[in-house]
Amino acid sequence: MRLRFRIVNKTHYDSRVLRRLVAWCIRHAGAEGRTRKVTFNYTRQDRGCSGYAWLNGSSVVMRLIKSKTDGINAAQVLLHEIDHNLGLEHKDMVPSRTIALPGFPADLMALVEMPPKSKPAPDAVERVAGKLAAVEAKVKEWESKLRRTRTWLKKWERRARYYRAKVAAAAQAPRL
Ligand SMILES: [Zn+2]
Repeated sequence: MRLRFRIVNKTHYDSRVLRRLVAWCIRHAGAEGRTRKVTFNYTRQDRGCSGYAWLNGSSVVMRLIKSKTDGINAAQVLLHEIDHNLGLEHKDMVPSRTIALPGFPADLMALVEMPPKSKPAPDAVERVAGKLAAVEAKVKEWESKLRRTRTWLKKWERRARYYRAKVAAAAQAPRL
């Protein structure tokens, strides 16, 4: 039977792993008949997961341990809560830590965390700062070229004045 469920993940655990945990538990409990919703958040204590569920309902709230959640513990608690959804009360149930999990997937033994976010591509601020440094170097380079150009211009203007004076003097001198 096709599974219909959704999860609300308010923890740092990988949602894909939580989905697989929920899917496995729904199948194991034989609770495929209804669309279910499992909300994950944290428990305040760190001895084990806890949860609560609506009797004959379709919603479960799971509280996971923030530091490290044991997948088997989480599955046992989730199965306990799903049983409440299915209408079972505590007098009808075994303690959750004694629930057998035949065929529980090895890779769900410990819930894995969300993979770290890939390092943001070269930080935008850093990139713009790099561009500014390159542009400022160009400004310096061209200011220096401008100073050299002015120096050469003055030099050639001086020479032009010198030869103009010479030409003028030659024009006034008596021809011999
Ligand atoms: Zn209970």
